[in-house]
Amino acid sequence: MKKKIFGISLAIMAVVLLLYAILSTQLFYNSSIEQTQTYLKVYASFYEADKYTFDNAGACAYSADLGGARVTFMAENGVVTGDSDDNDLVGIDHSSRSEVVEAGESGSGFATRSSDTLGKDMIYYCVKTENGFVRVALYTSSALTVLSDSIPTIIWFLLVDILICVIFTYFATEYIISPVRQIAKDAALNRKLKTNYKELEPIVDILNKRNVEISAQLKEISEERDLVEKAQKSKNEFIANITHEMNTPLTSIKGYVDLLAGGLLNEEQSKAAYETIRKQSDRLTNLVACVINYNEIDNDELPPYEVNASKLLDEILLTMKPVVEEKGITLTSDIEENLLLQSRYERLNQVFGNIIRNAIRYNKENGSIAVTLKREGDKAFFAVADTGIGIDESHLERIFDRFYTVDKSHNGKNGGFGLGLAVVKKICKRSGWTIKVKSEVGVGTTFTVTF
Ligand code: ADP
Repeated sequence: MKKKIFGISLAIMAVVLLLYAILSTQLFYNSSIEQTQTYLKVYASFYEADKYTFDNAGACAYSADLGGARVTFMAENGVVTGDSDDNDLVGIDHSSRSEVVEAGESGSGFATRSSDTLGKDMIYYCVKTENGFVRVALYTSSALTVLSDSIPTIIWFLLVDILICVIFTYFATEYIISPVRQIAKDAALNRKLKTNYKELEPIVDILNKRNVEISAQLKEISEERDLVEKAQKSKNEFIANITHEMNTPLTSIKGYVDLLAGGLLNEEQSKAAYETIRKQSDRLTNLVACVINYNEIDNDELPPYEVNASKLLDEILLTMKPVVEEKGITLTSDIEENLLLQSRYERLNQVFGNIIRNAIRYNKENGSIAVTLKREGDKAFFAVADTGIGIDESHLERIFDRFYTVDKSHNGKNGGFGLGLAVVKKICKRSGWTIKVKSEVGVGTTFTVTF
């Protein structure tokens, strides 16, 4: 950039200098001619007819009086009668010389030309007198000579010009670059860029836009990375949980099989061992079915259709009647007839079933359960309120997590793997429903699903 500015300013100044030199030469030349013409007029006015003879001698005398200016006398017909610088000119016809022609016509005339006789540039002034033509002339430099004479001065000026250009370039570059430098500094520090220079505004705008875009992209990338990390963590946890859940029944089965194979058990003990093996295998099968079911919800892209939720809920309650009675639980229901929901039968079945099963499972002896399915305003809701053991506030957030059970010692005893509410939550999320839970330890729990 410095080189460019230096080159341009030097070129501009050099051209200006050259133009100035040519112009001033021209002006100087013109003014010097004007001045010479004035001198010549004054010189001519000194001519006295009776003082100088009209021949070479007279011309020389007159020239000497004028301090060396060339003097030529010509007869009325233009033939030279005397010349101060060239005595041999006598007898030569000068009538065609422009100054002589002009003087013949108007009394006086000027001419500037290279003298044929002397081979130099001269300015002539010719006046008509009673004796004939009197011509005075002075040497003059041609415009080219003036210009060539001024070349050393021009070179000096050019050197000064280069020096000025170097200094100018340094300060100009600093001046131009400093706002750009400031922008680069701010950009490096990720600050919002500002400028007072209109010319830099487009760059600043583009950089600011880019900065915003980059920040957004970085945020997106970091969010995506977080999601991937989360997914990976969750997958690992899921696998760890499944293997843990499988481990208990498998250990038990293996232990009993070893005992049976060793023939160490009597008939009664063998019977009990077979029974345990059967229960644990059921539990394993159940676990695998639960996991498969949980994973299937994710991939389930089947279209929803109208389901008679009221009918479905009635059926579920009917199937659960024996267990409810067995536990001495009082079950009441408030179900609006023919309430239709956009869903799938198996999904709604799981939401209703899992929540009601928990209300029975975590209830107390002779407790009660109230099931509601109603429309309220433009929304329908399903609620199950029990008078069971309740859930401590510290667990409320996590009960919807996979494999999360509040009381680990109960784990498996009631057949729960901590997947029931995770399934409910997943279905609600995919269907755009909301699920809420309210609970008090020892008093009871209420789950509400709003469709
Ligand atoms: P589980 O198969 O163990 O029942 P869930 O996902 O259905 O798993 O429930 C998670 C945990 O939430 C249960 O282990 C239980 O501790 C608690 N829970 C769920 N429903 C109720 C309820 N109605 N009353 C008390 N605790 C409940």
